[in-house]
Amino acid sequence: MALAIRRFPDPILKRPTHPVERVDAAVRKLVEQMAATMCAHPRCVGLAAPQVGSTLRIAVMDSSRNPKVAESRGLIILVNPHVTAAEGAVLQREGCLSIPDFTGNVQRAARVRIRAHDQDGQLQEFWLEGFEAIIAQHEIDHLDGKLFLDRVANLKTDVFRRRTSL
Ligand SMILES: [Zn+2]
Repeated sequence: MALAIRRFPDPILKRPTHPVERVDAAVRKLVEQMAATMCAHPRCVGLAAPQVGSTLRIAVMDSSRNPKVAESRGLIILVNPHVTAAEGAVLQREGCLSIPDFTGNVQRAARVRIRAHDQDGQLQEFWLEGFEAIIAQHEIDHLDGKLFLDRVANLKTDVFRRRTSL
């Protein structure tokens, strides 16, 4: 079942999340609902718990939902994710289900090493690059109470109104 999306300026989007202490049935259910919610929005490639009203440090992402992406790990579940290393820099246009009317130019690291638990509670550490690196940084920002609007260099020149709302 898809969950309702919280939109800017809902205050939950500005609040840092709490780490998950144990990956139990309730956490797995939330992960499942977040994946279903992502799938309910055709252009959505990532979702963080605050966007569906939860204050837990959980995100889901799937870059393969963008048909232009050639290589993808598919669905990635991120429980308590952190960036442990970052390399390079890229500037790219980003959007967000919680800010449906705008996109923005955001600078991100080109490659990031992520440490996170998976849906079985196993600690994983792996590198992401390209589109997946950008999605992961965008979602981890959500978990720290940050939106892409907080990352654009200039709100006047780097934010754009969408022709069609998400
Ligand atoms: Zn977002």
